[in-house]
Amino acid sequence: MTTVNYAIVSNIRDFSLRNAVYRALLDDGQFSDNDIRDILKASLDGNGVTETEFNDLQTILKSAKTISPHGKAMIEDFTKKHYTPPRKTIPQASGQLTTNFNISEFACKDGTAVPDTYRNNALEVAQNLQVLRDTLGKPISINSAYRTVSHNKSVGGEPNSYHLRAQAADIVVSSYTPSAVKGAIEKLIKEGKMKQGGIGLYNSFVHYDIRGTAARWSK
Ligand SMILES: [Zn+2]
Repeated sequence: MTTVNYAIVSNIRDFSLRNAVYRALLDDGQFSDNDIRDILKASLDGNGVTETEFNDLQTILKSAKTISPHGKAMIEDFTKKHYTPPRKTIPQASGQLTTNFNISEFACKDGTAVPDTYRNNALEVAQNLQVLRDTLGKPISINSAYRTVSHNKSVGGEPNSYHLRAQAADIVVSSYTPSAVKGAIEKLIKEGKMKQGGIGLYNSFVHYDIRGTAARWSK
């Protein structure tokens, strides 16, 4: 166990954050001076929070014994303000988008692969679905994601469907009803963990898209 030099904390310019971190560290000796210096560098150098610093802040939130709800909210706000998640690039060779989703699962059911121009759309859908998958802890099957214009027509899709740009996925989660899946997505959107978008409730699946504004329907 290392001793915390609280003088470092006093260097934080932002008053609210300084108090929050102080409270967070008060009864927690597991962070060394260097740890804290690194964690707080963002607030001192104005370069934003790096991924490592972000993870350290999360560790503080989880492990600090005396952190108040107010202090916790302060650190969370600070993190939100200064941390930009890294834009993940798609490993071209494997086509793996996230831990559990591959670009091949987003291909049109007529056999057409997701066009390069829509790859990042598919990636964004996958990243959001990965959050859902991690939360529910069950595999997600994608019934339909990217659709060519002709395939979209043949399945009776909307002429301007988000599926045409690989921004949507119709999903089934094993051992969850569509309505339970919809509820889980709503909750994650509310918590800011999934992107706002369209949610369509169907008998046997849920449509989710990343349009950015709320749209809800059921059929
Ligand atoms: Zn759909």
